[in-house]
Amino acid sequence: MNHSLPAESVPNLLRRAGATMLRWFDTRHAVESDAARADRIDWLRVLPFIAMHLACIGVFWVGFSWLALATALTLYALRMFAITGFYHRYFSHKSFRTSRPVQFLFALVGAASVQRGPLWWAAHHRHHHRHADTDLDIHSPRHGFLRSHMGWFMTPRSFGTNFDAIKDLAKYPELRWLDRFDILVPVALATALFALGIVLKNAWPELHTSGPQLLVWGFFVSTVVLFHVTVTINSLAHRWGTRRYATGDDSRNNWLLALLTFGEGWHNNHHHYPGSARQGFVWWEYDFTYYGLRVLALLGLVRDLRTVPASMRTARPEAK
Ligand SMILES: [Zn+2]
Ligand SMILES: [Zn+2]
Repeated sequence: MNHSLPAESVPNLLRRAGATMLRWFDTRHAVESDAARADRIDWLRVLPFIAMHLACIGVFWVGFSWLALATALTLYALRMFAITGFYHRYFSHKSFRTSRPVQFLFALVGAASVQRGPLWWAAHHRHHHRHADTDLDIHSPRHGFLRSHMGWFMTPRSFGTNFDAIKDLAKYPELRWLDRFDILVPVALATALFALGIVLKNAWPELHTSGPQLLVWGFFVSTVVLFHVTVTINSLAHRWGTRRYATGDDSRNNWLLALLTFGEGWHNNHHHYPGSARQGFVWWEYDFTYYGLRVLALLGLVRDLRTVPASMRTARPEAK
Protein backbone atom coordinates (compact mmCIF):
# COMPACT_ATOMS: atom_id res chain seq x y z
CA MET A 1 0.00 0.00 0.00
CA ASN A 2 1.20 3.53 -0.73
CA HIS A 3 1.59 5.31 2.62
CA SER A 4 2.43 8.75 1.33
CA LEU A 5 -0.34 11.03 0.17
CA PRO A 6 0.29 13.90 -2.22
CA ALA A 7 0.86 17.21 -0.42
CA GLU A 8 -2.22 19.44 -0.41
CA SER A 9 -2.59 23.18 0.07
CA VAL A 10 -4.71 24.45 2.99
CA PRO A 11 -7.44 26.00 0.81
CA ASN A 12 -7.64 22.77 -1.15
CA LEU A 13 -7.87 20.73 2.05
CA LEU A 14 -10.64 22.94 3.40
CA ARG A 15 -12.55 22.76 0.14
CA ARG A 16 -12.34 18.99 0.12
CA ALA A 17 -13.40 18.80 3.79
CA GLY A 18 -16.41 21.03 3.08
CA ALA A 19 -17.42 18.94 0.09
CA THR A 20 -17.06 15.75 2.15
CA MET A 21 -19.36 17.12 4.84
CA LEU A 22 -21.93 18.12 2.24
CA ARG A 23 -21.99 14.45 1.27
CA TRP A 24 -23.50 13.66 4.66
CA PHE A 25 -26.64 15.32 3.31
CA ASP A 26 -26.41 14.82 -0.44
CA THR A 27 -24.57 11.69 -1.52
CA ARG A 28 -24.34 12.90 -5.13
CA HIS A 29 -22.29 15.93 -4.11
CA ALA A 30 -19.00 15.66 -5.95
CA VAL A 31 -15.71 15.44 -4.07
CA GLU A 32 -12.36 15.59 -5.83
CA SER A 33 -10.59 12.37 -5.11
CA ASP A 34 -7.41 10.78 -6.31
CA ALA A 35 -6.12 7.26 -6.66
CA ALA A 36 -3.91 7.59 -3.58
CA ARG A 37 -6.95 8.14 -1.34
CA ALA A 38 -9.36 5.74 -3.01
CA ASP A 39 -8.80 2.86 -0.59
CA ARG A 40 -8.03 4.85 2.54
CA ILE A 41 -10.61 5.35 5.24
CA ASP A 42 -12.23 8.75 4.87
CA TRP A 43 -12.49 9.61 8.59
CA LEU A 44 -14.28 12.90 8.09
CA ARG A 45 -17.06 11.33 6.07
CA VAL A 46 -17.58 8.47 8.53
CA LEU A 47 -17.74 10.80 11.54
CA PRO A 48 -21.55 10.34 11.85
CA PHE A 49 -21.01 6.55 11.91
CA ILE A 50 -18.49 6.92 14.75
CA ALA A 51 -20.78 9.38 16.54
CA MET A 52 -23.65 6.86 16.43
CA HIS A 53 -21.47 4.39 18.34
CA LEU A 54 -20.49 7.01 20.92
CA ALA A 55 -24.15 7.99 21.36
CA CYS A 56 -24.85 4.44 22.63
CA ILE A 57 -22.89 5.33 25.78
CA GLY A 58 -25.85 7.59 26.49
CA VAL A 59 -27.65 4.58 28.03
CA PHE A 60 -25.80 5.43 31.27
CA TRP A 61 -27.49 8.82 31.39
CA VAL A 62 -30.94 8.16 29.98
CA GLY A 63 -31.63 5.07 32.09
CA PHE A 64 -33.61 1.96 31.28
CA SER A 65 -37.29 1.21 30.75
CA TRP A 66 -39.00 -1.86 29.37
CA LEU A 67 -40.64 0.36 26.80
CA ALA A 68 -37.23 1.59 25.56
CA LEU A 69 -35.97 -1.99 25.28
CA ALA A 70 -39.13 -3.11 23.46
CA THR A 71 -38.78 -0.17 21.05
CA ALA A 72 -35.15 -1.09 20.32
CA LEU A 73 -36.04 -4.76 19.71
CA THR A 74 -39.06 -3.94 17.55
CA LEU A 75 -37.08 -1.53 15.39
CA TYR A 76 -34.27 -4.07 15.13
CA ALA A 77 -36.68 -6.76 13.90
CA LEU A 78 -38.59 -4.53 11.52
CA ARG A 79 -35.48 -3.06 9.91
CA MET A 80 -33.65 -6.39 9.81
CA PHE A 81 -36.60 -7.80 7.88
CA ALA A 82 -36.52 -4.84 5.47
CA ILE A 83 -32.77 -5.30 4.93
CA THR A 84 -32.85 -9.07 4.45
CA GLY A 85 -36.22 -9.38 2.73
CA PHE A 86 -36.05 -6.28 0.55
CA TYR A 87 -32.59 -4.69 0.31
CA HIS A 88 -31.10 -8.16 -0.11
CA ARG A 89 -33.56 -10.72 -1.47
CA TYR A 90 -35.70 -8.29 -3.46
CA PHE A 91 -33.60 -5.33 -4.62
CA SER A 92 -30.30 -7.20 -4.96
CA HIS A 93 -31.56 -10.59 -6.18
CA LYS A 94 -35.12 -10.10 -7.46
CA SER A 95 -36.15 -13.34 -5.79
CA PHE A 96 -39.84 -12.32 -5.76
CA ARG A 97 -42.12 -9.64 -7.16
CA THR A 98 -44.10 -6.86 -5.60
CA SER A 99 -45.95 -3.65 -6.43
CA ARG A 100 -44.30 -0.25 -6.72
CA PRO A 101 -45.87 1.13 -3.50
CA VAL A 102 -44.78 -1.92 -1.45
CA GLN A 103 -41.33 -1.73 -3.03
CA PHE A 104 -41.08 1.90 -1.90
CA LEU A 105 -42.52 1.24 1.55
CA PHE A 106 -39.89 -1.40 2.37
CA ALA A 107 -37.17 0.71 0.75
CA LEU A 108 -38.15 3.40 3.28
CA VAL A 109 -38.02 0.98 6.21
CA GLY A 110 -34.67 -0.35 4.94
CA ALA A 111 -33.35 3.19 4.60
CA ALA A 112 -34.15 3.74 8.29
CA SER A 113 -31.39 1.18 9.03
CA VAL A 114 -28.68 3.74 8.18
CA GLN A 115 -27.09 1.33 5.70
CA ARG A 116 -27.29 3.83 2.84
CA GLY A 117 -29.94 3.73 0.12
CA PRO A 118 -31.36 0.64 -1.63
CA LEU A 119 -29.51 1.31 -4.91
CA TRP A 120 -26.12 1.69 -3.25
CA TRP A 121 -26.72 -1.42 -1.15
CA ALA A 122 -27.89 -3.57 -4.07
CA ALA A 123 -25.13 -2.39 -6.44
CA HIS A 124 -22.42 -3.32 -3.94
CA HIS A 125 -24.06 -6.60 -3.12
CA ARG A 126 -24.38 -7.66 -6.75
CA HIS A 127 -20.70 -6.83 -7.15
CA HIS A 128 -19.96 -9.09 -4.16
CA HIS A 129 -21.72 -12.04 -5.79
CA ARG A 130 -19.97 -11.50 -9.13
CA HIS A 131 -16.52 -11.44 -7.52
CA ALA A 132 -17.00 -13.28 -4.19
CA ASP A 133 -13.69 -13.69 -2.37
CA THR A 134 -11.55 -12.66 -5.32
CA ASP A 135 -9.30 -9.60 -5.38
CA LEU A 136 -12.21 -7.58 -6.75
CA ASP A 137 -14.55 -8.39 -3.84
CA ILE A 138 -14.22 -5.30 -1.67
CA HIS A 139 -15.59 -6.93 1.47
CA SER A 140 -13.99 -10.33 1.38
CA PRO A 141 -12.40 -11.32 4.70
CA ARG A 142 -9.41 -12.40 2.63
CA HIS A 143 -8.49 -8.70 2.71
CA GLY A 144 -8.67 -8.64 6.52
CA PHE A 145 -11.49 -9.15 8.98
CA LEU A 146 -12.04 -5.51 9.96
CA ARG A 147 -11.88 -4.45 6.34
CA SER A 148 -14.63 -6.95 5.45
CA HIS A 149 -16.72 -5.97 8.47
CA MET A 150 -16.69 -2.20 8.02
CA GLY A 151 -13.45 -0.74 6.66
CA TRP A 152 -14.56 -1.35 3.08
CA PHE A 153 -17.47 1.10 3.02
CA MET A 154 -15.47 3.86 4.69
CA THR A 155 -13.28 4.40 1.63
CA PRO A 156 -13.90 6.82 -1.26
CA ARG A 157 -13.85 3.88 -3.67
CA SER A 158 -17.02 2.36 -2.27
CA PHE A 159 -18.89 5.60 -1.59
CA GLY A 160 -20.66 6.02 -4.91
CA THR A 161 -23.51 3.97 -6.38
CA ASN A 162 -22.58 2.09 -9.54
CA PHE A 163 -25.68 2.71 -11.62
CA ASP A 164 -24.60 0.22 -14.30
CA ALA A 165 -25.13 -2.57 -11.77
CA ILE A 166 -28.71 -1.57 -10.89
CA LYS A 167 -30.28 -0.29 -14.11
CA ASP A 168 -33.47 -2.21 -13.29
CA LEU A 169 -33.84 -0.25 -10.01
CA ALA A 170 -32.52 3.15 -11.09
CA LYS A 171 -35.51 3.66 -13.39
CA TYR A 172 -37.64 4.48 -10.33
CA PRO A 173 -37.19 8.17 -9.39
CA GLU A 174 -38.45 7.58 -5.85
CA LEU A 175 -35.68 5.02 -5.25
CA ARG A 176 -33.06 7.34 -6.75
CA TRP A 177 -34.28 10.10 -4.42
CA LEU A 178 -34.07 7.82 -1.38
CA ASP A 179 -30.60 6.74 -2.42
CA ARG A 180 -29.38 10.28 -2.96
CA PHE A 181 -30.64 11.75 0.32
CA ASP A 182 -30.08 8.68 2.45
CA ILE A 183 -29.83 10.65 5.69
CA LEU A 184 -33.45 11.86 5.60
CA VAL A 185 -35.24 8.72 6.78
CA PRO A 186 -32.84 8.03 9.67
CA VAL A 187 -33.13 11.64 10.86
CA ALA A 188 -36.93 11.43 10.62
CA LEU A 189 -36.95 8.22 12.68
CA ALA A 190 -34.63 9.66 15.33
CA THR A 191 -36.73 12.83 15.59
CA ALA A 192 -39.98 10.86 15.83
CA LEU A 193 -38.58 8.68 18.63
CA PHE A 194 -37.41 11.72 20.56
CA ALA A 195 -40.80 13.40 20.18
CA LEU A 196 -42.67 10.24 21.15
CA GLY A 197 -40.56 9.92 24.29
CA ILE A 198 -41.42 13.48 25.32
CA VAL A 199 -45.14 12.89 24.77
CA LEU A 200 -45.09 9.60 26.71
CA LYS A 201 -43.13 11.11 29.60
CA ASN A 202 -45.81 13.74 30.06
CA ALA A 203 -48.86 11.61 29.34
CA TRP A 204 -47.78 8.38 31.10
CA PRO A 205 -44.98 9.09 33.58
CA GLU A 206 -45.38 5.55 34.98
CA LEU A 207 -43.67 4.26 31.80
CA HIS A 208 -40.42 5.87 33.05
CA THR A 209 -39.37 6.91 29.60
CA SER A 210 -38.27 10.19 28.05
CA GLY A 211 -37.27 11.72 24.71
CA PRO A 212 -33.52 11.12 25.15
CA GLN A 213 -34.17 7.56 26.39
CA LEU A 214 -36.23 6.51 23.36
CA LEU A 215 -33.71 8.20 21.08
CA VAL A 216 -30.71 6.40 22.58
CA TRP A 217 -32.29 2.95 22.87
CA GLY A 218 -34.70 3.00 19.93
CA PHE A 219 -32.39 4.68 17.45
CA PHE A 220 -28.72 4.54 18.42
CA VAL A 221 -28.43 1.21 20.25
CA SER A 222 -30.86 -0.59 17.95
CA THR A 223 -29.21 0.79 14.78
CA VAL A 224 -25.63 0.04 15.87
CA VAL A 225 -26.50 -3.55 16.85
CA LEU A 226 -28.48 -3.98 13.62
CA PHE A 227 -25.52 -2.72 11.61
CA HIS A 228 -22.93 -5.01 13.21
CA VAL A 229 -25.17 -8.07 12.96
CA THR A 230 -25.96 -7.34 9.29
CA VAL A 231 -22.31 -7.04 8.29
CA THR A 232 -21.34 -10.30 10.00
CA ILE A 233 -22.71 -11.83 6.81
CA ASN A 234 -19.85 -10.17 4.90
CA SER A 235 -17.23 -10.94 7.51
CA LEU A 236 -18.07 -13.96 9.71
CA ALA A 237 -20.32 -15.81 7.23
CA HIS A 238 -17.34 -16.05 4.88
CA ARG A 239 -15.17 -17.51 7.69
CA TRP A 240 -17.13 -19.34 10.35
CA GLY A 241 -19.52 -22.25 9.74
CA THR A 242 -20.00 -25.25 7.49
CA ARG A 243 -20.05 -25.63 3.74
CA ARG A 244 -22.68 -27.73 1.99
CA TYR A 245 -21.87 -26.57 -1.54
CA ALA A 246 -18.67 -26.13 -3.52
CA THR A 247 -19.40 -22.51 -4.37
CA GLY A 248 -15.89 -21.44 -5.31
CA ASP A 249 -15.87 -18.79 -2.56
CA ASP A 250 -15.53 -18.95 1.25
CA SER A 251 -19.25 -18.68 2.13
CA ARG A 252 -20.47 -20.65 5.16
CA ASN A 253 -23.72 -21.81 6.75
CA ASN A 254 -23.91 -20.69 10.35
CA TRP A 255 -26.92 -21.36 12.61
CA LEU A 256 -26.18 -18.52 15.04
CA LEU A 257 -25.82 -15.90 12.32
CA ALA A 258 -28.98 -17.29 10.70
CA LEU A 259 -30.83 -16.74 13.99
CA LEU A 260 -29.59 -13.17 14.47
CA THR A 261 -30.05 -12.13 10.83
CA PHE A 262 -33.41 -13.86 10.29
CA GLY A 263 -32.06 -16.43 7.84
CA GLU A 264 -29.09 -14.76 6.16
CA GLY A 265 -26.65 -17.01 7.99
CA TRP A 266 -27.35 -19.84 5.53
CA HIS A 267 -24.88 -18.00 3.41
CA ASN A 268 -23.27 -20.95 1.65
CA ASN A 269 -26.76 -21.97 0.49
CA HIS A 270 -27.27 -18.43 -0.68
CA HIS A 271 -24.06 -18.24 -2.70
CA HIS A 272 -24.98 -21.61 -4.24
CA TYR A 273 -28.37 -20.35 -5.44
CA PRO A 274 -28.74 -16.57 -4.88
CA GLY A 275 -32.06 -16.31 -6.72
CA SER A 276 -34.02 -18.08 -3.98
CA ALA A 277 -36.22 -16.03 -1.64
CA ARG A 278 -35.69 -18.84 0.86
CA GLN A 279 -32.16 -19.29 2.16
CA GLY A 280 -32.86 -22.18 4.52
CA PHE A 281 -32.85 -25.11 2.09
CA VAL A 282 -34.04 -27.83 4.49
CA TRP A 283 -36.89 -27.73 6.98
CA TRP A 284 -34.74 -27.18 10.09
CA GLU A 285 -32.83 -24.27 8.55
CA TYR A 286 -35.05 -21.58 10.07
CA ASP A 287 -35.42 -18.54 7.88
CA PHE A 288 -37.61 -15.93 9.56
CA THR A 289 -37.31 -13.57 6.61
CA TYR A 290 -38.81 -16.20 4.35
CA TYR A 291 -41.64 -16.86 6.81
CA GLY A 292 -42.30 -13.11 6.88
CA LEU A 293 -42.33 -12.98 3.08
CA ARG A 294 -44.81 -15.86 3.05
CA VAL A 295 -47.09 -13.85 5.32
CA LEU A 296 -46.79 -10.84 3.00
CA ALA A 297 -47.62 -13.15 0.08
CA LEU A 298 -50.74 -14.39 1.90
CA LEU A 299 -51.75 -10.75 2.35
CA GLY A 300 -51.25 -10.19 -1.37
CA LEU A 301 -48.40 -7.69 -0.89
CA VAL A 302 -45.67 -9.77 -2.59
CA ARG A 303 -45.89 -12.63 -5.11
CA ASP A 304 -43.92 -15.23 -7.07
CA LEU A 305 -41.49 -16.13 -4.28
CA ARG A 306 -38.76 -18.20 -5.92
CA THR A 307 -37.24 -21.15 -4.09
CA VAL A 308 -34.35 -23.45 -4.90
CA PRO A 309 -35.17 -26.12 -7.52
CA ALA A 310 -34.78 -29.71 -6.27
CA SER A 311 -32.03 -30.40 -8.83
CA MET A 312 -29.99 -27.44 -7.52
CA ARG A 313 -30.45 -28.45 -3.91
CA THR A 314 -28.35 -31.55 -4.46
CA ALA A 315 -25.95 -30.16 -7.08
CA ARG A 316 -22.26 -29.37 -6.49
CA PRO A 317 -21.82 -30.76 -2.95
CA GLU A 318 -18.67 -29.71 -1.10
CA ALA A 319 -16.15 -32.54 -1.02
CA LYS A 320 -15.87 -33.94 2.51
ZN1 LIG B 1 -21.27 -13.48 0.56
ZN1 LIG C 1 -26.83 -12.05 -1.84
